Amino acid sequence: MHRLTVLYRHLSSNLVVKPGFLRINQQLGGGLKQIKLEKASSEAMESKVECRYDNIIKSAEDNRLYRGLLLKNGMKILIISDSTTEKAAAAMDVHIGSLSDPWNLPGLAHFLEHMLFLGTKKYPSENAYMQYLSEHGGSSNAFTSGQHTNYYFDVGCEHFEGALDRFAQFFLCPLLNEEVSEREVNAVDQENTRNVKQDNWRLFQLQKSTSKKNHVYTKFNAGNKNTLQTIPLQEGVNVREELLNFHSKYYSSNIMALAILGKDSLDTMESMIVDLFGSVENKSVEIPVWLEHPYGEEQVQVEYNVVPVKDLRQLNISFAIPDMSEHYKSKPSHYLGHLVGHEGVGSLLSELKSQGWVNMLYGGEKAGAKGFSFFTVTVDLSEEGLDHVEDIITHIFQYLNMLHKECPQEWIHKECQDLDNMRFQFKDKERPSSYVMMTVANLHEYPFTEVLSADYTMSEYRPDLITMILGLLTPDKARISVVSKSFEGKTENVEKWYGTEYNVKKVPADVIQKWQNAGLNPKFSLPARNDFIPTDFSIVPNEEGSPAFPTLIKDTPMSKVWHKQDDTFLLPKACYFIDITSPLSYLDPLHTNLTRLFTVLVKDALNEYAYAAEIAGIGYSLDSTYYGLYLNISGYNDKQDILLKKVLEKLTNLQIDVKRFEVLKEMYSRMLKNFSAEQPHQHAVYYTTVLMSELAWTKDELSNSMEEVTVERLKAFIPQLLSRLHVEALFYGNLSKQRALEVVDMIENELKNTCSTKPLLASQLVKRREIQLPDGCYFQYRKCNDVHDSSGIEMYYQVGLQETENNMLLELLCQIISEPCFDTLRTQEQLGYIVFSGVRRSNGVQGFRVIIQSNKPPSYLDCRVEAFLAQMKELIINMKDEEFERQVSALVVKRSVKPKKLTTQCRKYWSEIISGQYHFDRDSVEIACLKTITKDNLIDFFNKYIDANASQRHKISVHVKPTVTADEPDSSENMTDKPVDGIVLTEPVVVTDVTYFKSGLSLFPRPASYIDSLAPAKSKL
Ligand SMILES: [Zn+2]
Repeated sequence: MHRLTVLYRHLSSNLVVKPGFLRINQQLGGGLKQIKLEKASSEAMESKVECRYDNIIKSAEDNRLYRGLLLKNGMKILIISDSTTEKAAAAMDVHIGSLSDPWNLPGLAHFLEHMLFLGTKKYPSENAYMQYLSEHGGSSNAFTSGQHTNYYFDVGCEHFEGALDRFAQFFLCPLLNEEVSEREVNAVDQENTRNVKQDNWRLFQLQKSTSKKNHVYTKFNAGNKNTLQTIPLQEGVNVREELLNFHSKYYSSNIMALAILGKDSLDTMESMIVDLFGSVENKSVEIPVWLEHPYGEEQVQVEYNVVPVKDLRQLNISFAIPDMSEHYKSKPSHYLGHLVGHEGVGSLLSELKSQGWVNMLYGGEKAGAKGFSFFTVTVDLSEEGLDHVEDIITHIFQYLNMLHKECPQEWIHKECQDLDNMRFQFKDKERPSSYVMMTVANLHEYPFTEVLSADYTMSEYRPDLITMILGLLTPDKARISVVSKSFEGKTENVEKWYGTEYNVKKVPADVIQKWQNAGLNPKFSLPARNDFIPTDFSIVPNEEGSPAFPTLIKDTPMSKVWHKQDDTFLLPKACYFIDITSPLSYLDPLHTNLTRLFTVLVKDALNEYAYAAEIAGIGYSLDSTYYGLYLNISGYNDKQDILLKKVLEKLTNLQIDVKRFEVLKEMYSRMLKNFSAEQPHQHAVYYTTVLMSELAWTKDELSNSMEEVTVERLKAFIPQLLSRLHVEALFYGNLSKQRALEVVDMIENELKNTCSTKPLLASQLVKRREIQLPDGCYFQYRKCNDVHDSSGIEMYYQVGLQETENNMLLELLCQIISEPCFDTLRTQEQLGYIVFSGVRRSNGVQGFRVIIQSNKPPSYLDCRVEAFLAQMKELIINMKDEEFERQVSALVVKRSVKPKKLTTQCRKYWSEIISGQYHFDRDSVEIACLKTITKDNLIDFFNKYIDANASQRHKISVHVKPTVTADEPDSSENMTDKPVDGIVLTEPVVVTDVTYFKSGLSLFPRPASYIDSLAPAKSKL
């Protein structure tokens, strides 16, 4: 279920949660004129181009055209022409990051990343770049890691040149305005505050901080107000000068890589950029390499005991290995990660699980920087596992000993190679901005011809390198870290930047000796050959005149089945999305917990088996929901049904392993409790949901009922749960209607034969509803967050039931407000790092919302948002017609973007099914409506629902404040709610009792189904 794939320099999609990646997080919306650039003459272009590469290896399904360019100034560029794209995109990767920060200015590279967004000599206005993008349907972001700073954006195709011109100025002539930097340092500071109490960031920094003294790896990457303002001020360091110095020293064309994707031809795009980016100066910067490893003698044979913020228990063992990136053709650490992280029969995880010590394991290479790397194994620990840390490590070395004895094996390398080849050949398309963002750094690493394929290549088999790495994974070279609340109050050290409490001790020589003599364990063996690897990649021919949208192909009291054969992606893949409804699943907190544990146990029991399918690209997920169970199967369609059958067998015939039950129950209980340590803005969002939905068990209610959860209760409950069900499913992808019907039969037969399942009554399928706020109301709900020092707020202005015109008015309002909201509340007022505005939709009801996380009190934020909305009214009223039209067009661009992946398309259809609206053609209907909306319509809408005096204003604010402790008088002073200049808020009605609040209010109906789903489909059956 979990493993760490080898992290070469390619970046995974979950950058937001990955520690070490600092990003500028923003929303867009806003007004400037498009500029027309003069095309460079061809001679001028030739003078700037050193070399072209038109032979870039791509997968067979890929219709895009590629060209590599090496400019005379050393910049590497990848041009991608895609005639079908709705948006153009660009990404610039500067091969320099936080590890190159000056020692006296931690966070400078990251700070510079923020500052480049805020004005250049050619476009001095602070929001010129973001406003331009927002007005043309675009968005932007950037991130800083140890060795890279990556900037990217997307925009409507017609405005690519204008956007590129603004973008290029980042690298030519940034302003780095002093006054702006004094403000923006607050955003960096708040970004750090957001991370400070997050365990993944704390553990990452602790590993860094405890590395070899004075090694660059020990640096603090994020920066805060202290490191970037207060201390420099005291020491007479001019931060603006240092920002300029850093830019002029390192932002050199020869360590920059650019990737662009657009609709135009390669030649046209080449002419757009060559002059612009050919003008970036080459300062002949060498990409830094650190051959000395951050782990020296003092860093190994040691054990760190670390106190977490959340109630986590974790064991990590890590080893120094050299940088393996030059061996990308053989990927020896991928080979080893594949085995150490394996979850099938004979694997390390399987054995540790059967001992009751762990639930999850991640193993593999963890990239360091150029010159050094790590190999790590991380497991979570059960309560019992915490008492068996030494034994677990013994098992890890026994497993590694087995690898020594049995490896290298060429067939395993071959299997990995085949799987990677397959992943490359049948790759899903990415959104343009993600595609350029993820591909651009490869230009630094691989020859031009291989920039797309290198991450998937394992063309060389190098047993010598596998043996070399394996030889480094020995007890005398291990660094161990154990994370547990049990160390609380027993530690002596505090990490400098995050305040993490920890102890460090030498591992006794006799323990090292014991691990060295661990020997072999008969439980461990190499994995069997993977039978799930697909062999049939044929595409099922589409019938002529097949419907454009999912159609109902079966409708009985037991099941309702939708099908659409894919005619867009034409990949050998399919998705089955299956909702299994039971009114018992969310009956009360106890039953909700039982249903959840049921799914957790089924997945746990299936893990050894399903892991092989997962690595072969056939995945499944099973979860408990508001209405029952949700099961999905995705990936290659070949062999999907084998997996589905096995999942159904487990689901209908689970034998509960009591030991696993206890371990998983404890883990789930902890997860419920750990919710209290989530971010303040997440709490605000969560409580808004609790307040607005008809029925929602809170985390506390669920947690409190965990005592009642026993094996006996669960055993008694499962047959009840499965005795009466309704199935609604969507089959989408490379499969015919006939095939879909056969799969449904299989599902129904399994349920009927094993559990004697009967259908539910139609009245048991009614969906839950949303609370209707009364006209003119202003409710406020207040909570405290015990862990974080920031406050969080969600302000929600409920508009009403989803309906075409209102949907578009609301989305257009959000489109217009989004960029100024970010500019005013974040860039100008610096309320916080997280400032979001947009649409909230739930149970068919929608409204406008603003979410902020800040070091200011919630009531202050509430006032500032109200002041901002008053400005917005003026802005809309005074908006010129052509600007209004631009905003409409920008939203049209955004809404016209088609899903790039089969699963994304499937999820889009699925959301129509589970909402009961079945509005499969929503985009074209809503875009047509959007084009008819006038400025007056929008003003009326604002005056009706959002304006301070609106007759139908329905406002609710959730205020989350930090818990004030007695010994911190300063923070209590900071967070006191005080009235704010000029803005007088109407007195809120404070919600103290959620049940009482809800019982006094009406419920909305559910929105009507957009199509009469039964009548036309029945006639086809
Ligand atoms: Zn940032």
